[in-house]
Amino acid sequence: MSERDPTSDKPSADIVMLGRCPMCKKRATLDYRPFCSKRCADLDLAKWIGGSYAIPAEETDLSEADMIDPSAEH
Ligand SMILES: [Zn+2]
Repeated sequence: MSERDPTSDKPSADIVMLGRCPMCKKRATLDYRPFCSKRCADLDLAKWIGGSYAIPAEETDLSEADMIDPSAEH
């Protein structure tokens, strides 16, 4: 077979497995995958927490407005 060193293939295979950070598109790291750093991991977490809090609050507001709207308009 060829003289290719199997150990030289390992680092590149690691990069392919880790992929890229979805926040800034940098190369992801083992410690914070799929992110590149703790900052990007925290940013993504904050995005999810902020979204789940914002949606129920808006829904409550909409149903309240919906109850008032029919009697006020018609
Ligand atoms: Zn990143």
